[in-house]
Amino acid sequence: MTNPVKQWIRPEIQALSAYHVAPSAGMVKLDAMENPYHWPKAMVEEWLGILRDIHVNRYPDPVSAELKEDLKLLMDVDPKYQVILGNGSDELIQIVSMALAMPGRVVMAPEPSFVMYKMIATFCGMDYVGVPLGEDFVLDLDAMLAAIEEHQPALVFLAQPNNPTGNLFELEPVRSVCQQAPGLVVIDEAYLAFSDRHHLALMDEFDNVVIMRTLSKMGLAGLRLGMLFGSKAWVEQFEKVRLPYNINVLTEASAKFALMHFDVMKAQTQEIKENRTQLVKALHQLPFEKIWPSQANFILARTPPGKARFIADQLRDAGVLIKCADGAHPQLKDCLRFTVGTADENRLMLQALHAAMSE
Ligand code: PMP
Repeated sequence: MTNPVKQWIRPEIQALSAYHVAPSAGMVKLDAMENPYHWPKAMVEEWLGILRDIHVNRYPDPVSAELKEDLKLLMDVDPKYQVILGNGSDELIQIVSMALAMPGRVVMAPEPSFVMYKMIATFCGMDYVGVPLGEDFVLDLDAMLAAIEEHQPALVFLAQPNNPTGNLFELEPVRSVCQQAPGLVVIDEAYLAFSDRHHLALMDEFDNVVIMRTLSKMGLAGLRLGMLFGSKAWVEQFEKVRLPYNINVLTEASAKFALMHFDVMKAQTQEIKENRTQLVKALHQLPFEKIWPSQANFILARTPPGKARFIADQLRDAGVLIKCADGAHPQLKDCLRFTVGTADENRLMLQALHAAMSE
């Protein structure tokens, strides 16, 4: 008898592994680039007061106009640009990809980078071309331009800063990619809060550029709110693909409330940046082969050969969850990625790391 799943699920979906999320109950969680801080008690109380009046029996506001205006204002985005919101920026990657997908069309990104670009390209039936980054993960402009010339991508993703490498690509090569790309270029600024440069001006310069951001890394990962800024011409097309009510009432109200306290989110971000400085210093005391500078809320480091999985497992057994990047891409061989936590979490992680690396 034929197996209907094998027969009918698309072969490229059958060949995929689902995005892996490790169990984390009770762990020091330094694997997913979350902000480790919750809100001050008084703020939580005020928030709960707002939630009390929400009507979960009603569908959400379908356009979230006020929330969009708040975001544009707080992020200094020129009023002439429009915003589309997503259930996390993951959903925006999906929306944009669906809007551009056609058989034979190519999605391109430098590699290693955020894995969802490739996964979502596959979901949408597009071809994916990854262009290897250069030494120390700089954008290899010659390779990018050659790949653009050869594959004429409909869609290019550039994560700025990049995940999992933590670096910002230089502005000039990014500009060249925007100029040479025949299709849309999405600059993914998920880690903007921890970096030195934003790219809003590229939208003024190139009409094939949009900017994607998220509140996940600033403390609202659980709410799932991503946003994409772009010209009316792009955004009105993406809006057609967005499912109605993709931003639920609790997310909408909570995000609006959180943005009224943007100063709290900013202060937490500043603290994470200070913790990052301390953590980098401490990691340099350990026998890593290499620790890359980071403009994000995580740090990538290379262990001695063959040790990454062992160290990640030892840390897990000690109650600390980090990301083992070894195996994800050839350029990530022996690499571990540490999300920056609170000072206490980082201390616990370093203790476990000391023990694991002295074995
Ligand atoms: N872009 C990049 C580069 C990321 O690393 C992530 C999350 N790890 C996302 C987008 C998605 O973030 P979210 O869906 O939480 O907004």
